[in-house]
Amino acid sequence: MRIDRDGPVIVWLRNDLRLADNPALAAAAAPGRPVIPLYILDQTPGVRPMGGASLWWLDKSLAALADALEAIGSRLILRRGPAREVLAEVVAHARPAAVVWNRLYDAAAIDRDTDIKAWLKDEGVACESFDAGLLNEPWTVRNGAGQPYKVFTPYWRAAREHLHQVHVEPAPKALAAPEHWPRTEALAGWKLHPTRPDWSKGFDLWTPGEAGARERLDDFLSGPVDDYQRKRDLPGVEATSRLSPHLHFGEIGPRQVWVAARNAVEAGDAPAGQIEKFLSEIGWREFNHAILFHHPDLPKTSFRPEFDAFPWVSDHAGFEAWTRGETGYPIVDAGMRELWATGFMHNRVRMIAASFLVKHLLVDWRRGEAWFWDTLVDADLANNVGNWQWVAGGGADAAPYFRIFNPIAQGQKFDPAGTYVRRWIPELAGLPDATIHEPWKAAAQLNGAAKRLYGEPIVGHSAARERALEAYRGLRGDQALHAAR
Ligand code: FAD
Repeated sequence: MRIDRDGPVIVWLRNDLRLADNPALAAAAAPGRPVIPLYILDQTPGVRPMGGASLWWLDKSLAALADALEAIGSRLILRRGPAREVLAEVVAHARPAAVVWNRLYDAAAIDRDTDIKAWLKDEGVACESFDAGLLNEPWTVRNGAGQPYKVFTPYWRAAREHLHQVHVEPAPKALAAPEHWPRTEALAGWKLHPTRPDWSKGFDLWTPGEAGARERLDDFLSGPVDDYQRKRDLPGVEATSRLSPHLHFGEIGPRQVWVAARNAVEAGDAPAGQIEKFLSEIGWREFNHAILFHHPDLPKTSFRPEFDAFPWVSDHAGFEAWTRGETGYPIVDAGMRELWATGFMHNRVRMIAASFLVKHLLVDWRRGEAWFWDTLVDADLANNVGNWQWVAGGGADAAPYFRIFNPIAQGQKFDPAGTYVRRWIPELAGLPDATIHEPWKAAAQLNGAAKRLYGEPIVGHSAARERALEAYRGLRGDQALHAAR
């Protein structure tokens, strides 16, 4: 980075809340100048505000980052407001020589950052952005015709070709402090932790922050990864890494995950095939970010435009029952209750619950996406939108619409002993395995609220399936369905 004048370097931290493998921070520290780490709770119009569960996470992640910065002689400056206005104030006070950050790839962030970069240039402040959040930036992976990929498998095959030498930056050991620190706001004053009511009591399984992320990765690589491929679909077993919120907030970067996973194979500590499968999931994260970059309207419109004519219904009562985990289908309800209680839902159950909303209830995927956005600790624009569109059938490389998950069969297949259902719906705990996913068959054994909820589900599977297929047939350009029948 070329810097032409005196002054500190501001590192504007966003979804990169870590010290290690943080190229913007490393670049700021390199010239030996004072560094001002800054986090802005951004209120730029058009930038989607975080949901409640994400704000809960952010609160703890910023506290962890502030502690880590203090340990190396620095501080975290916290400010709230539209990013450009905040930066204007901080720049006027700190008179920095440069402002640096790591890039983000959704349209609102790109517009904001482009505008800020141009303004800093006019102010004579050097500005540089870096690559920290993905293994491959979205524009770097293209097919033979120079076009972005639309299908995952060839995308990932090509993406992997770029990954022969992945480099990870160590954390800086010390950061020089400026003579005068800019004003900071108190994290507690942001009131990110919920009160009245505090719905986050079940969130204590998480340790937000860089150290917590590293621990998750190490724990996963030293055990569950050995049987990842077979068990990753079983919600009753903790067989996946649970790294998604850490990756979203950038407490760990995908390069660090990649290098640690490859090292585990080389050291003989983890089976190569299992690691491949795990890394291909990181590949889906990459793919979703690339798709969103190349199709910036995806939060609003379907990747396959004919899906925007789908006859969604408003079914307020059905939607409410879904959000509360009261559909009458145990696997769907268990997932929605896990989500509410912990800010997380197992991936297989996300697919089943999302499919139920869009196919059994015919509710627009965007309403489900918004609910997940508010309640997931890993809520991520590219991954949430990409996966909802995948489930709804109108996304890139999506599940075909006519493949409608049967919530009973899915439960029986992936939670055969009902471990997951019993954990989240204790009122069904006494049912035998044979009826745990069809409790209405054991209605005589149910009492009170359980009898009311599970005596009969809110929609019958067969009728809902037919209704969904009928709605799909009505779509123009529905050759896919006819071809498949
Ligand atoms: P692991 O199995 O350990 O996978 C490792 C990492 O790979 C994950 O941490 C995640 O970063 C990535 N990954 C895994 N599966 C997917 C996937 N299907 N798509 C993209 N990346 C993936 N993930 C989010 O990070 N944020 C979201 O907002 C989000 N919304 C979703 C909505 C729906 C309807 C569905 C079906 C899936 C959604 N996912 C989302 C993807 C997936 O469910 C989570 O990433 C996964 O459950 C996280 O658990 P894990 O970290 O234990 O995954």
